[in-house]
Amino acid sequence: MARLLVDLRKIEHNARLVTDRAREQGIGIFGVGKGLAGRPQVGRTLLAGGCIGIGDSRLENIKAMRDAGVQAEFMMLRLPQLSRTRETVELCDISLNSEAETLGSLSRHACELGKVHKVVLMVDLGDLREGVWPDGLRDLVHVGAALTGINVWGIGTNLTCYGGVIPDSQNMSHLLALARETEDILGHKIEVSGGNSGILNMLFSGQLPSGITHLRIGEGMLLGRETLNRQPLPGAFTDTCRLEAEVIELQEKPSLPVGVLGQDAFGEYPSFVDRGVRRRAILAIGRQDVAIDGLTPLLPGAIVLGASGDHLIVDVEESPKVRVGDTISFTPGYGSMLALSTSSYVKTVYKD
Ligand SMILES: *Cc1c(COP(=O)(O)O)cnc(C)c1O
Repeated sequence: MARLLVDLRKIEHNARLVTDRAREQGIGIFGVGKGLAGRPQVGRTLLAGGCIGIGDSRLENIKAMRDAGVQAEFMMLRLPQLSRTRETVELCDISLNSEAETLGSLSRHACELGKVHKVVLMVDLGDLREGVWPDGLRDLVHVGAALTGINVWGIGTNLTCYGGVIPDSQNMSHLLALARETEDILGHKIEVSGGNSGILNMLFSGQLPSGITHLRIGEGMLLGRETLNRQPLPGAFTDTCRLEAEVIELQEKPSLPVGVLGQDAFGEYPSFVDRGVRRRAILAIGRQDVAIDGLTPLLPGAIVLGASGDHLIVDVEESPKVRVGDTISFTPGYGSMLALSTSSYVKTVYKD
């Protein structure tokens, strides 16, 4: 069975690096382990690395961490589903929100459960994923302030996700100005949730304007890199995870298919590079388990050629020692790590 090997000590080191840098600037870090299926081991590691709480986008992951005894403040990152607001209040201390109706439902359940649920109101500063447009924030704050069982705990934004918008001094200042307006309406101080790993360049270069109180960081700690250009963070481990998959066929074949070409198994028209006759390995893993564009082979000279649902095809011409039954290792990118860690066909092994 293919294995994903996760080195928790390296992730803890990365977490420590980020949380130390943030603490110097008065900023707390919510650790986000959803890229590794939000497993309890990962949550514990992020907390050991200095995170002040855990964020996740799936209620199932948060429930699994709670059931395993992980002690933390839990933040729900994906906007709550109206059909699951009760579970959201039961399982999460904080949730990110942008819909008045959802706030109302969270409030009703919080009152019934005798809890106070903290909400971060999300503002869309241009990335076009979640959040109210800035001119709609004031109304949402008034809605939240009027509800019992809800504490309008902060405002936040999420960039670099859908639109790829880069966090900069302009959009961060805008967020801070909106926070001050919100505090004027509420009459109390609030949290400012500045963003995800796309903001790490600003954090590490000391360019974040003061007033941001916390960040929600996943990839930066899980893979040790910022996410604008995917460059390593200084001093971080980028080899925290390794995929091992087994060779099931090893044959010499031409680089170009023979015959008239139509669509591949996924309805696409693949392209090929002619390198002549080459030694090719087929590995027992495929697109059902992994995002192949994000795979970097650790075998020198190996080239990922493509994959179908269950087969990964790798050029191993430069590695004459490879045999059928051997495993070949890869470093996964974020999408691959996400898919591998949630695939029931891959065994995740945690090392600590
Ligand atoms: C996933 C997520 C994060 C963490 O993103 P990274 O790029 O992995 O740091 C932060 N905020 C929200 C709302 C998220 O969904």
